[in-house]
Amino acid sequence: MRILWFCIPAYGHTNPTIEVVRELVSRGHEVRYYSFEEFREKIEGAGARFVACDTYLPPVDTKAVRKLRRVSTTEMSVQSFRTVANLDPLVSDDVASWHPDVVVTDSACFWGKLAAAKHGLPWVCSTTTFAFNEHSSKYMSHSASEIADMVLGLPRMNREIRKLRSLGYEVKSALDIVSNKPEDNTIVYTSRSFQPCSETFDEEHYRFVGPSVRDVAPKDKVGRALVYASLGTVINDHPGFYHTLIDALGGSDVDLLISCGRAFDPAQLGEAPGNVCIEQYVDQMEVLSRASLFVTHCGMNSASEGMWMGVPELLFPLTGEQRAVARRVAEVGAGRLLEEAVARDSAALRGAVHDALADERLCEGSARMRDDLRSCEGPRGAADFIEQIARSNVAPW
Ligand code: UDP
Repeated sequence: MRILWFCIPAYGHTNPTIEVVRELVSRGHEVRYYSFEEFREKIEGAGARFVACDTYLPPVDTKAVRKLRRVSTTEMSVQSFRTVANLDPLVSDDVASWHPDVVVTDSACFWGKLAAAKHGLPWVCSTTTFAFNEHSSKYMSHSASEIADMVLGLPRMNREIRKLRSLGYEVKSALDIVSNKPEDNTIVYTSRSFQPCSETFDEEHYRFVGPSVRDVAPKDKVGRALVYASLGTVINDHPGFYHTLIDALGGSDVDLLISCGRAFDPAQLGEAPGNVCIEQYVDQMEVLSRASLFVTHCGMNSASEGMWMGVPELLFPLTGEQRAVARRVAEVGAGRLLEEAVARDSAALRGAVHDALADERLCEGSARMRDDLRSCEGPRGAADFIEQIARSNVAPW
């Protein structure tokens, strides 16, 4: 079977797909994976043939870079529409010469979703966040600036959409592309019980396969507790927050490990106290295997990995989507929200960390979620579903 896979350049969207690709390749299928150089090694390591899309990304000026760093929905959509147009000849040639049986595309990857539609191929949506429909999207609370960005950006997006229609793509709107429709065959990398409003997603089209992680055996937590903090790989340029954390826990009776991202050199945070370690990137699963508390931005992967390892979470979301994840982690009892005012005050933050470390119910909630997520069918279930859709050979277009 030939599987054409598309993903956006983001760890959070790529990582969960890797074990599914490995499973498909081990079953003898060919996977051709459109991605970006940063992810080549992971993708080739899973046995897929890597296709580089880097040179097809549209050029961006400093204003656009600033907006992308702030996760502007308008800017991301405009860049995505342009990427669809740039990749059109390459993808069209590939489809014509390689004859894929099925397309698997990330839910936010416009060029994958639109290619499947244009070429009339059966497709599977790979959703690394929650599945979002009109019910579950109510979990996202957008800030005023996020709403203004979307509303004011509509004319720009519509101009790009008109250009794509002239290339043969049936695009209604950016929202129409990113939201999940009832009839879209969709893999979601969480459990049905963690998905908000899960009863609104039917069994036939939605497979909640659980987090797709590289498991690491948990270590015995004896001695000093380790607090691990990360704001993920996208919006992590928050030196002020890291400073407050260091002030809060430096010289205290717990160890602190911060993964600060690649936006700046950790040396800029000054000399760290002996119980504090700052890295740009860590093996997060390995760190979680020995951590007692995870201060997280609530990217879907990080939140899931924390629960997978049974580590209680202090939730510090920065975007609408992350706020939805944080709300759900708190609802299932595996984490506590960290209020903005607390995150800005080192004494209050120290108190919040120690309260969370001492909270038995939080440990119980995390253990419950660990068992729930581990009972899902995982990458094998995702691979079964992709095979089933390819064999049914029905394109919904
Ligand atoms: N990650 C990692 N090391 C780090 C920081 C992040 O391995 O130092 C991984 C993490 O395990 C997760 C992904 O990067 O799989 C981040 O995805 P998430 O959805 O949590 O957040 P995003 O980076 O997309 O905001």
